[in-house]
Amino acid sequence: MIKDNLERIYNELPSGVKLVAVSKFHPADCIREAYAAGQRVFAESRPQEMNAKVEELKDECPDIEWHFIGHLQTNKLKMVLPYASLVQSVDTHHLLDEIDKWARANSRVIDVLLELHLGAEETKQGFHEEDILDLLFSVTGSMDDQGRQKKYPGIRFRGLMGMASHTEDESVINADFERIDSFMAYLVDLFPELKDFNQLSIGMSGDYHLAVKNGSTMVRIGTAIFGDRS
Ligand SMILES: *Cc1c(COP(=O)(O)O)cnc(C)c1O
Repeated sequence: MIKDNLERIYNELPSGVKLVAVSKFHPADCIREAYAAGQRVFAESRPQEMNAKVEELKDECPDIEWHFIGHLQTNKLKMVLPYASLVQSVDTHHLLDEIDKWARANSRVIDVLLELHLGAEETKQGFHEEDILDLLFSVTGSMDDQGRQKKYPGIRFRGLMGMASHTEDESVINADFERIDSFMAYLVDLFPELKDFNQLSIGMSGDYHLAVKNGSTMVRIGTAIFGDRS
């Protein structure tokens, strides 16, 4: 039962860690069930699917906070950005440029997390530490006295997102989480002018216990709430 799964997870999470229910590939009815149990934050990974669910649920579940966690092609921004409270999966400069352009054209500021590449696999997306450092130096260097950014004025940098290595070896997963947690702490120290840069999104169904021990402020859990994705 979705409700029981949610209750178990709520009880396990320390206060201050936000549960993001990953509803991708599950029908809107599953979201309704979780919503009825009190869950308000949901994440989707495909623009079309997110858009369809937003439309279907907007009257029944008006206060859902939608996050986007998947690969975002720049030609799909208008399916996602009007509805997403947070884009967790920003992994290229090109995507940042395009989100910023869309935001300025629509008089919006979009909250994003920068995805840090963790683990060794070549296929994994995400920025490397030095890319993120360069990026945030250029953003903070463009700020005026009021803290307004000339660089990416349409983007509010909220923190980091990471996915641990795909392995059963908990020591490897833990090392990934330690790495992103200490990088996060380093950035928060280095860039006090980024006042809203305070979110660390780590932890999925299989590893959220480890993530919480390593400073997670936001866990993204699908399978442990909704069951397997067919
Ligand atoms: C699918 C997905 C999740 C949820 O994974 P589960 O193992 O089902 O909890 C979390 N984060 C991202 C980025 C995902 O794509």
